[in-house]
Amino acid sequence: MQGFNKYYPPDYDGKTSVNKLAGKHHALGSRASKLKDGILITRFELPFDVWCDQCAALVAQGTRFNAEKSKVGAYFSTPIFRFRMKCHLCANHYEIETDPQNTRYRVVSGARAKVVDYDGDKIGAIKVESLHARAPEIDPATGEAVAPDAFASVEKAAADKRDQAARSERLAELYEHNRKHWEDPYARNQQLRRSLRTAKKTEREAQSAADGQEWRLAKIRKHQADGGRHAAPTRLARLLDKARGGRP
Ligand SMILES: [Zn+2]
Repeated sequence: MQGFNKYYPPDYDGKTSVNKLAGKHHALGSRASKLKDGILITRFELPFDVWCDQCAALVAQGTRFNAEKSKVGAYFSTPIFRFRMKCHLCANHYEIETDPQNTRYRVVSGARAKVVDYDGDKIGAIKVESLHARAPEIDPATGEAVAPDAFASVEKAAADKRDQAARSERLAELYEHNRKHWEDPYARNQQLRRSLRTAKKTEREAQSAADGQEWRLAKIRKHQADGGRHAAPTRLARLLDKARGGRP
């Protein structure tokens, strides 16, 4: 019999965990050694090429490091994490942060990211519209930013209001219909069960008719197999006629 409970020694005061009492370490092992400072050691993969500030080496995208991960802030409710890792060629440390606002990573210190520019439209990248800054409309004739059309926005607000009124009317109708339909749930239930019962009955009858047909055919086959010795001749003749399609 395997013991399912932990052993609590008689002098256990309940102030420390049982694991600690047994001299065991954290489940994450040495990765959790700095957990009390809010740092977890994780495996971090460089999201882009970087140049080390100290040894000037180009470290390739995808190089993996044991990085110290810590939370340094938040963008709305999304945490911003910072990863601190040591250059594998010198004693320098890089610090890279997540940037939820722009959905990317950015280098904070110790290195310089290699910027590879590309046209998002050409490679079919998904566009993320910023919550704060909406790019101003550009006039194709002059190439300058144009001020938003005040009349257009007023017209849109009026149209939205009309739409909303129409929708709320329809919604009220639906509510009313639903209320009437389900006024008496007992009667609705009865109706439903009745229709189900009828459907089941029809199905049962069809099944039994099919079974009967099957039984008759089996009997004819048996008779044909044993040369007609074991069946009443008149009844069998009728059955055979029926199977042949009513011809004598
Ligand atoms: Zn370096």
